[in-house]
Amino acid sequence: MVAGAVVCLALVLAVERLVRFSAFADAQETADGTLRQTVNALEGHLRRFETLPALMARQTEVRDFLTTLPGPAGVGAMNLWLKDTNRVIEASDLYLIGPDGTTRAASNFDREDSFIGQNFAYRPYFTQAAAGGQGRFFALGTTSGVRGYYFASPVQNTSGQIVGVVALKIGVEDMEASWQAKTHQTLVTDPEVIVFMATDSMWLFRALQPLSPEQMARTAASRRYVDQPLDLLGQGEGQDAGRRLVTLAGAMGVVREYLILGRDMPAAGWTVQVLLDTAPLRAQVRLAVAAFVLLLGIALSSSWALWQRRARLSERIALQARAQADLESQVAERTVDLRKANDELHRIQADLVQAGKLAALGRMSAALSHEINQPLAAARTYADSAALLMDRGDLARARDNIDQILSLIDRMAAIARHLRSVARKPDEPLKTLSLAKAVADAVQIAEARLSASGMTVRIDIPDTLPPVLGGPVRLQQVIVNLLSNAADAMDGTGGTIDLAATESDGRVTLTVRDHGPGVARAIRDRIFDPFFTTKTVGSGLGLGLSISYNIMQDFGGDLRVANHPDGGAVFSVVMHAVEAREKATN
Ligand code: ADP
Repeated sequence: MVAGAVVCLALVLAVERLVRFSAFADAQETADGTLRQTVNALEGHLRRFETLPALMARQTEVRDFLTTLPGPAGVGAMNLWLKDTNRVIEASDLYLIGPDGTTRAASNFDREDSFIGQNFAYRPYFTQAAAGGQGRFFALGTTSGVRGYYFASPVQNTSGQIVGVVALKIGVEDMEASWQAKTHQTLVTDPEVIVFMATDSMWLFRALQPLSPEQMARTAASRRYVDQPLDLLGQGEGQDAGRRLVTLAGAMGVVREYLILGRDMPAAGWTVQVLLDTAPLRAQVRLAVAAFVLLLGIALSSSWALWQRRARLSERIALQARAQADLESQVAERTVDLRKANDELHRIQADLVQAGKLAALGRMSAALSHEINQPLAAARTYADSAALLMDRGDLARARDNIDQILSLIDRMAAIARHLRSVARKPDEPLKTLSLAKAVADAVQIAEARLSASGMTVRIDIPDTLPPVLGGPVRLQQVIVNLLSNAADAMDGTGGTIDLAATESDGRVTLTVRDHGPGVARAIRDRIFDPFFTTKTVGSGLGLGLSISYNIMQDFGGDLRVANHPDGGAVFSVVMHAVEAREKATN
């Protein structure tokens, strides 16, 4: 975080520096252009005049005038000539100075502040020209109070002696007026860095740098600025972005900072300076930096938002992955649990099957031991008494006992046969049968038993009923079985057993209905199991319905049980109906 802030700060500072340098460089370039133009214009202007005094010094009138020192008429003529020439060359003043420095004739002879009679021996341009050189000087006029540039040349007589000086003054105000102070200030300073010309007149005759006593003395000696106070304009110098800067106290003490660019005009003794206010530059830099900071802020905050979004997204993905993993492990756990439960169920089922088998075996052995033990015990008793009767010679009664034994043996054989039919498939082939006949035969077989219990049988079988497919003996066995169970259910108290047959969808159904208690729902599924019985030991083996069910399956039919809504059990024997066509083929 701190590192990020430092990086951002460094970036902002770097951008600020870059913008500042480029702004200052641009400003400097503009200022340099202005400076070049200004210097060129000034040089051109000065050049126009610089050779004129030398030219005029050669004029015979001028030489004669200074050599002969004429009377007032000659001076008046010369004054007029100077005035005329001055107008032609467009200078400010043109005048002739004697070797002592006193002005003898002047173009401004007719002005109140005329130079005539004034002594300029202190002016450097005079001393230079009087010494035989070309005099040049700029100064504030002592009498006119007008700034000017002075050119001077020595005048020699025919023998080569210097007899005087021709001096020419030009104003600087016109040059100054051509400077435009819109975006920059232009100054001309003297070698002591005192302002001689300026776009802002407030700055005139003020020093850019503090003046040393020697500078002050030099300036005072030349009387360049007459008695101007020469205040300090410059408040300091500095540098920024590799550019020179000055601080100036302008009008009403307002201190401003400027980018300054100077160029010397050695011939003229001038330095031209172009100043550019840095305030707008700095404002421009600040604006650019502010824009950059704003952009940086936007970029940072949007990348921060983006980053946050990505973080949230990956968090969500991780969360989902975790939830998925949780779910998978939960599923795995549940699967293990389920497998365990399933295994347990299988085990319990196997146990139950085993228990069921054992129960069936128990029921079977109980039934069988009774069915066999009871006749065996009886047979033994008969055999014992037969032996006794034979010893006594009562053969007739012994014979009776043996008959009893024989019938018991038959009974046991019947039980064995019964059991065999459970275990073994019968080899009786299936035939087309009349259901009505099978019912009639079965009722006849059961007749003795039924009438003993005082029961009647009602038969309702339509003549149109088609024949059925089955084994005649086994079908009879099924019907006898159902009749005998119905009789048991009604407990020998008398009543009616209803037998009825119907046909639908190629099936013939025989129903056997009694008026007993019906089959309790709890045991309804088990009554077809082998050896299942609710009867006391000795009165039922629990095989009747099991055998009957298997027989009906063999016929491709079914045996079902239900309770009649008005009470009593209803057993349905379902068989295949045989069509007339099939009957014909049989
Ligand atoms: P058993 O007659 O030797 O008990 P079954 O297989 O014929 O053997 O019958 C099994 C059981 O079915 C009977 O013990 C009895 O509980 C029940 N049951 C059979 N027929 C009827 C019926 N008509 N009414 C009520 N219960 C019956």
